[in-house]
Amino acid sequence: SKQIELVSRPDGIPSPSNFRMESVELSPIADGEFLVKNQWMSVDPYMRGRMKEGDSYVPAFKIDEPLEGGCIGQVVESRHKDYQKGDMVLGNLGWREYWKSNGQGVTVVDPELAPVQAYLGALGMTGMTAWVGLNKIAELQSGSTVFVSAASGAVGSIVCQLAKAKDCHVIGSAGKPEKIDWLRDKAGIDAVINYKQTDDLAGELARLAPNGIDVYFDNVGSDHLEAALDVMNDFGCCVECGMIATYNATDPPAAPRNLFKVIAKRIRMQGFIVMDHMDARQQFIQEMAPLVKAGKVVWEETITEGLEHAPEAFIGLFDGDNLGKQLVRISGD
Ligand code: NDP
Repeated sequence: SKQIELVSRPDGIPSPSNFRMESVELSPIADGEFLVKNQWMSVDPYMRGRMKEGDSYVPAFKIDEPLEGGCIGQVVESRHKDYQKGDMVLGNLGWREYWKSNGQGVTVVDPELAPVQAYLGALGMTGMTAWVGLNKIAELQSGSTVFVSAASGAVGSIVCQLAKAKDCHVIGSAGKPEKIDWLRDKAGIDAVINYKQTDDLAGELARLAPNGIDVYFDNVGSDHLEAALDVMNDFGCCVECGMIATYNATDPPAAPRNLFKVIAKRIRMQGFIVMDHMDARQQFIQEMAPLVKAGKVVWEETITEGLEHAPEAFIGLFDGDNLGKQLVRISGD
């Protein structure tokens, strides 16, 4: 079975030389185990944190060991009573062709509800991140003005549409013209900023949100957070979901330089980790399913073909290569 291993810890932007593909022999499955052939895997910005030395809220990846992450595969052999040959399952052993399991942390998914890879995106961890951030952290109220950074990405694209479904005024930022078009035409948000084409993000934001921002859904940190703080309303909320602009930094970020505005404007700023909210997964699916069926939530996938190209797919996240959820197709069946 082929797998991608971490060869060295990236310094700054990761490069393909930090990764290598290896072949390993799989031992037969024991009683109470099953074997899965991966079809899809997810690459996510948080994986960059796990490539650093030292544990954060998740343990660091080990050198010369396979990487891990969300994946969807099919059970091809089973000696476990709850998992049948042919079942499609969601697991956490991506970056490889095959994996064995005793079922811990593995969920059978329903291929009738949506294409299976959606359980890595809109109906999976990233969709749930959007939902938790808006509902549990921001406690979003109808009619609010919401600013979303990395708005066309896996999390951001769902944030935009959930906020629109609550009749909010939504402003999104992204870094490519086709992403700007998608946000306006498909996600149906009210205003868009191509942050790479402005040198005054705060000014642009103030122009698009003349009554100020009530909720900032932060996926980027740094200069985006600084601009948002400038335009936030008193008693607004900054949902701290991610700070991708800082993940490859070798020096501490300069922005935000205006953090005092959190006090002056009595802003509530709260970070969260979606994994702490997994008990709400059923509620999330129940709320998402009708929105998906009604076409109120749509999504895009950017698909990279072949396990061997997974490192490039991952690195591309930091270059904005993806529209919507970035996936890697490992095998077709
Ligand atoms: P995305 O699909 O949004 O992919 C990353 C996108 O970020 C890129 O396409 C790019 O789009 C943008 N980006 C990359 N570098 C920069 C930069 N320097 N400045 C501004 N934008 C940049 O990824 P996800 O949706 O999976 O994740 C979005 C954020 O949410 C990340 O920060 C991630 O860490 C966080 N997250 C947090 C979770 C939690 O539990 N707290 C769970 C899941 C994700 P563009 O072209 O617009 O620049």
